[in-house]
Amino acid sequence: MQYTDVAIVGGGLAGSTVAAMLGRAGIPAVVIDPHPVYPPELRCEKIGGEQLDLLRKTGLAEPTLRATSLDGEVWEARFGYVVAKRPSDQHGIMYDTLVNTVRAQIPPGVKIVVAKAVAVRSSDERQKIELSNGEEISARLVVLANGLNIGLRHTLGIQRRIVSRCHSITLGFDVAPTGAAFAFPALTYWPKRASARMAYLTLFPIGDKMRANLMVYREMTDPWFQQFKRAPEETMCAMMPGLARMTGGFRVVGPVKIRPADLCVTDGHLQPGIVLIGDAFATSCPAAGTGATKVFTDAGRLCNVYIPAWLSTNGMDTAKISQFYDDPEKVDCEARCLAKAYHLRALSTEFGLSWRARRWGRFIIRAIQGMRHLIWRPAPQRVANPTGQPQHGNLA
Ligand SMILES: Cc1cc2nc3c(=O)[nH]c(=O)nc-3n(C[C@H](O)[C@H](O)[C@H](O)COP(=O)(O)OP(=O)(O)OC[C@H]3O[C@@H](n4cnc5c(N)ncnc54)[C@H](O)[C@@H]3O)c2cc1C
Repeated sequence: MQYTDVAIVGGGLAGSTVAAMLGRAGIPAVVIDPHPVYPPELRCEKIGGEQLDLLRKTGLAEPTLRATSLDGEVWEARFGYVVAKRPSDQHGIMYDTLVNTVRAQIPPGVKIVVAKAVAVRSSDERQKIELSNGEEISARLVVLANGLNIGLRHTLGIQRRIVSRCHSITLGFDVAPTGAAFAFPALTYWPKRASARMAYLTLFPIGDKMRANLMVYREMTDPWFQQFKRAPEETMCAMMPGLARMTGGFRVVGPVKIRPADLCVTDGHLQPGIVLIGDAFATSCPAAGTGATKVFTDAGRLCNVYIPAWLSTNGMDTAKISQFYDDPEKVDCEARCLAKAYHLRALSTEFGLSWRARRWGRFIIRAIQGMRHLIWRPAPQRVANPTGQPQHGNLA
């Protein structure tokens, strides 16, 4: 039996962030994950906006951002036209690189156990975790960060409830120009019509590659996916008139990964000695791009506020655990992310007059903003790199 203060089940983005933060704070912790190195997987492939501030609050921003490619500027296309070229702080990174970069920041004092947690027994005092390798861990607190894997949660009577099945589907692939280099550092293409059944296409640099994430709203059985796999370039151009004008000739290189996402919430999670974070608590819509927002909010609040306070007194009852679930920043974050998922889906797929008006409104506002930006645009500058290190991104 190994003894520790905090046992973290799952070394994905959420678990690894918590492990690195606790280790740096000198809090005894153990991480349990079956993968010694996080494997390639289609998940979050860029972070930006408020996620950068949240990442900074974890203390892990510098080395993490150094592994990313900053776009610096994004061309925004709506209704088949480039309506704006604006500064952008999106940092592209493949998910496995992101997680492994965070893992590399876990101090040696935190033990990483390569195994699966197969059972958890919880109480107001100590929690016991059984591992697939026959070992056992005793901890004061279990941080359950095991993502979409529901088996372990079911053994605890924790239920996952799907609130929107196949809410969106993400296609991830690389694109390359057939002729001269792409003119844009990054491009986001928003469709005109709800019949396209897509949220947007985003093209952004990762290293020397141009990565594409296409977010669509379809059933997984839709023959459109087979068509896309057979002829990706033609299918994209048919769906997005005007795209070829912006990209020039292009081809899809390498595999096309397709992944559906359900919106899920959790019931029965308030238990002594156990706290759920990241996707294990509630999933997000990839099109809304809020999964990392939730992960960094959870990790920041838990490690900067609650865990140090909880460990400073005896016991780990539900009164302590509920403080985290009721945390106003967490509650607000969860609500905003869910609302964004539904709003974006409605904005992209609803045919009603009010939704059409909203799509037109966005087009007109962005076009005006784009024109003003072109007129008042300052001399081109490299976007400040928070790390002070050279970036891989195309900053042209
Ligand atoms: C296609 C797609 C695209 C996305 N795009 C974006 C985006 O653009 N922006 C954004 O912000 N978010 C995005 N997201 C969401 C984001 O990727 C997730 O919210 C985030 O990765 C969740 O991290 P996590 O650590 O909770 O889960 P995970 O990264 O899944 O980690 C779970 C870990 O638990 C481990 N594990 C599982 N079971 C056990 C067990 N029994 N014992 C021990 N370990 C176990 C697994 O091995 C894994 O390492 C996307 C999601 C998807 C699916």
